[in-house]
Amino acid sequence: MKNTLIIGAGGVGGVVVHKCVMNKAVFGTITLASRRLESCQKIADQLPAGAIGIAQVNADHTDEVIALIQKTKADIVINVALPYQDLAIMDACIATKTPYLDTANYEHPDLAKFEYKEQWARHEAFQKAGVMALLGSGFDPGATNVFCAYAQKHYFDTIETIDILDCNGGDHGYAFATNFNPEINLREVSANGRYWENGKWVETKPMEIHFTWDYPEVGEKESYLLYHEEMESLVKHIKGLKRIRFFMTFGPSYLKHMEVLQNVGMLGIEPVEHKGQKIIPIEFLKTLLPDPASLGPRTVGKTNIGIVAEGMKDGKRRKIYLYQVKDHQECYREVKSQAVSYTTGVPAMIGAMLMLQGAWSGQGVFNMEQMNPDPFMDALNAHGLPWQMVELA
Ligand code: NDP
Repeated sequence: MKNTLIIGAGGVGGVVVHKCVMNKAVFGTITLASRRLESCQKIADQLPAGAIGIAQVNADHTDEVIALIQKTKADIVINVALPYQDLAIMDACIATKTPYLDTANYEHPDLAKFEYKEQWARHEAFQKAGVMALLGSGFDPGATNVFCAYAQKHYFDTIETIDILDCNGGDHGYAFATNFNPEINLREVSANGRYWENGKWVETKPMEIHFTWDYPEVGEKESYLLYHEEMESLVKHIKGLKRIRFFMTFGPSYLKHMEVLQNVGMLGIEPVEHKGQKIIPIEFLKTLLPDPASLGPRTVGKTNIGIVAEGMKDGKRRKIYLYQVKDHQECYREVKSQAVSYTTGVPAMIGAMLMLQGAWSGQGVFNMEQMNPDPFMDALNAHGLPWQMVELA
């Protein structure tokens, strides 16, 4: 019987817990830990009594995580807290020789910048500990990386270009709200854009490059070029790639709010003095905005996330679109969450399942596309995220 420790009782954490409980034969005894015990209790209350254990932990402190891993005898740690906690939790896993999985790469709280450098730097330490760390097992990063690996393995000899297309066609009825942690979301979309072409990164202004794409089951949406973390590992691992870009859809109301908030300084990450107290504007904004976990019951519509890949197969040019569509209300009925948390939490559960079952194994730090994509793609179909592939040319 395995022991599973999940850290982070937010929107994504809730989905991971529900899905692990549905697959208890794999995950065994499940403990959900978070900074506030009441966040864990809220999720535990959605489940049959005794389905999970709960615990309080401040995952910024490696020693607290070590103590919890030892107490729960965890066979795996699923980190769905915030990116700020990644390194402290990874270090606890190294110290206790415990496999590790997360869904987002490390961010320093004081720098609006994210990169894999510090997590990759722990490769040798994980090797020495003899265990695996799997980075970015959400949807994007996560399923999108596996889509690229699957396309590489089954549809192409060489992939030349990849566009990752992320559309949330959901409507929550608020003038402005974010679908996952507002601080992380707003930091991501207000930063300069960046894409990779002919061996180097090209920087753009925020929202400078955009085009209209017709998303199956959602419709036409304006899609904006952003920097997104999975590109950093994909350019290393997809051989022969000439260009990779990432696009996300935003509605006019979202963009107008973003522009105003930016102009008045509400997206700032530096502390400002307010009536004798120091406050960080973006943290205060998070307090004002709806909690993403509360959007579930009111969000209608669908998400559609996928990749368009172009390259050569058997001497012929080929272009494919591999995508996944998910309905917000269907997610809510199943696990009391909207589709953005669902499409992140299910791949986290699947990655952990493949690690516990030994289908994905290794010693060191790995990104998703380094693993055999086949069992993951099968599991997406089996656990609520069926995907489709169409030929575009
Ligand atoms: P939420 O803000 O809803 O949840 C984060 C949770 O982490 C909260 O419950 C919070 O605890 C907990 N937490 C924060 N700090 C600590 C700490 N120091 N110690 C322990 N627990 C802590 O975020 P989401 O659920 O939306 O996102 C979770 C993760 O998933 C993030 O890293 C996000 O970037 C990532 N993500 C990845 C996606 C992908 O496709 N790859 C897409 C969307 C999100 P508490 O409530 O107890 O205070």
